[in-house]
Amino acid sequence: MIKSSVLGYPRIGIDREWKKALEAFWSGKLEETEFHNQLQEIRLSHLRKQQEKGISLIPVNDFSYYDHMLDTATMFGLIPKRFSYIDGIVPLSVYYGIARGTKDATASEMTKWFNTNYHYIVPELDGASPVLTENRPLIAYREAKEKLGIEGKPVIVGPLTFLKLSKGYTLSEADAYLDKLLPLYVQILQELSIEGVEWVQIDEPILVTKLTEFEIQQLKKIYETFAASVPNLKIMLQTYFESIEHYSDIAALPVTGIGLDFVHGLNGNLTSIRALGFPADKVLGVGIIDGRGIWKAPLRAKLALLKELAEFVKPERLIIQSSCSLLHVPVTVEREKKLVAELKDALAFADEKLDELGLLVRGFLTDGADITDELEENDRAFQALKLLGERSEIQHAVAAISNQQQVRNQPFPQRNIVQQQKWQLPLLPTTTIGSFPQSAEVRKARQLWRKGDWNNEQYNDFIHGQIDIWIKLQEEIGLDVLVHGEFERTDMVEFFGEKLAGFAFTQNGWVQSYGSRCVKPPVIFGDVAFTGEMTVAETKYAQSRTKHPVKGMLTGPITILNWSFVREDISREQIAYQLAYALRQEVEALEQAGIGMIQVDEPAVREGLPLKEAEQANYLAWAVKAFRMTTCTVHDSTQIHTHMCYCEFHDMIGSIEEMDADVISIETSRSHGELVHSFEENTYKLGIGLGVYDIHSPRVPHVAEMTNMIDRALRVLDPKLFWINPDCGLKTRGFDETIDSLRNMVEATQIARAKY
Ligand code: GLN
Ligand code: ZN
Repeated sequence: MIKSSVLGYPRIGIDREWKKALEAFWSGKLEETEFHNQLQEIRLSHLRKQQEKGISLIPVNDFSYYDHMLDTATMFGLIPKRFSYIDGIVPLSVYYGIARGTKDATASEMTKWFNTNYHYIVPELDGASPVLTENRPLIAYREAKEKLGIEGKPVIVGPLTFLKLSKGYTLSEADAYLDKLLPLYVQILQELSIEGVEWVQIDEPILVTKLTEFEIQQLKKIYETFAASVPNLKIMLQTYFESIEHYSDIAALPVTGIGLDFVHGLNGNLTSIRALGFPADKVLGVGIIDGRGIWKAPLRAKLALLKELAEFVKPERLIIQSSCSLLHVPVTVEREKKLVAELKDALAFADEKLDELGLLVRGFLTDGADITDELEENDRAFQALKLLGERSEIQHAVAAISNQQQVRNQPFPQRNIVQQQKWQLPLLPTTTIGSFPQSAEVRKARQLWRKGDWNNEQYNDFIHGQIDIWIKLQEEIGLDVLVHGEFERTDMVEFFGEKLAGFAFTQNGWVQSYGSRCVKPPVIFGDVAFTGEMTVAETKYAQSRTKHPVKGMLTGPITILNWSFVREDISREQIAYQLAYALRQEVEALEQAGIGMIQVDEPAVREGLPLKEAEQANYLAWAVKAFRMTTCTVHDSTQIHTHMCYCEFHDMIGSIEEMDADVISIETSRSHGELVHSFEENTYKLGIGLGVYDIHSPRVPHVAEMTNMIDRALRVLDPKLFWINPDCGLKTRGFDETIDSLRNMVEATQIARAKY
């Protein structure tokens, strides 16, 4: 019998009831017992669904009250010292304290889970001695068995991945930590084994990254210890998000099964198996249904792949599974009532992927014979989607343009002279990043307009009113380059997606980003096209109210790409160029409307960085090209700005420079010293503003703090090219604190101007 397996199921629930329960509990509206009950109900409903769909290996312990890394850390009693905790089961107050911070203690750091948009809480070891506070996988296994008769497959974050993603220890302490953690893992596994568990899934996604020889030794030690301690337990060593590095070492580990990603790591994993075979005594977990994409699987291609794999692995040793946890996709397409049929028919969210697993099992067993109707339907769905999204004129235009050189008329030094003459800006010009506080009033107005209670004119008048207020304020504060404030925008991607062709929006396509925060990425299903001006009216209006330059404000192609679910029939690179071509038309329209400074935000460039180092340079090259494609057609006198945040830049300064933006503003206040240091080695030669205060905090920064920041930066950077700005947009801030902070920023600038 061929088995199907799921690596993890979304936590958020069909109506985001998980999110709602968490938030109700945090705000004190839901008491603890009821909270536990609600979460149990959600958890069981997810298990029941997988049971009904006939999944053979159903994951348990994949559910979480916040995040699986935090679960693992708290299971091992790894509580940062600033939280008051003595021993025993970690109370929810401490658990959520670590995740969200308390009055007295800051939260643990949160960071991206590999190359996904999911963020985990970084465990802090800091000399702690791990203990097993409770056997969570066992509790989850028992629950599924008792309540639903399911023989669950407990999921555990593997020791190597856990250790490598934790912080607060030095390399020389790594082995000591591993020696402390291993007995706890062994205890968990032994208890599972005694309980009669058949399979456990040990997640080691870190195996898709390059390991040192020392780490490979650790890996061997871990799995040899497990093999010796729980000889009867079947361990699926699970990897995902890319092909594994060190195939031979991993294939030789004493585990029952190895789970590989044949979607996002298809080439690498397949190449290894073709070249080196697969151990005859092992089970291969074939991660073939995409756990990260929202599209139906091309079933014929999947069957062909299974058939090929069956040449290397006995069919009864194959398990057909999702490529990773389904955590990264929305729950079900069924709830989408507004999508056009061709689009809806081409989608598969978590629940539909469960069906696909079943189909592939049947199809594989009968060589397709049992699912001929489904295969035909599958072909039709892809054809219909292609027709729906196709715009040949865009394909031709983009092909032609991407063959050209993406260069401005003149290089920066010459442009800079022209721009300086035109704008006559003072030394150390001041500006902001784009958005001003989105007050309750602004959100209310947008709602009224969306519901139809307000007509376009009423809404426009309101937006103009906001622009008026903030243009005046910016002038009073004494800023040099103004912005219109982005009051008409909900979100930096959705706003543009709604105005471009090729995008669709789901009603319920939510995925967890971190904690209870969910995002609903737009869907790029077809060729992207400019259909009309998107930002010109508001920018032009703002410019008409002031003599100071007003910066136009666009979201860049790479950020739109990285924050959307995208089609898979053309490369991400091609999609980026289509976006660039569309945005370029907006840039040109702004310029024509008399806007002489245009900012193209690229906060999410790093989010698309491939996990494999060998692929990073290529990605950065086309990302830079897309940015240049967007911005290169303007006159020398038009000043192109960009803004980046959410990431470390020290290893990207070369690429940032290649973007050739006249001015870049970068978020730095949280890592200021470090970034300034990186610029010491790389003399950056274009305009640059290192954010002088952290907009993530409501605290109003003192003038002296900012003069300090400026002084530090100007030890390394040329004052003639330096700009003064906060480190990101201000939309989440309050009215008064924003004004006070900006006043202080201008004062700090005046002090600095007197010195340089
Ligand atoms: N222009 C955007 C704003 O100010 C930039 C947001 C961002 O960097 N995430 O809101
Ligand atoms: Zn930002």
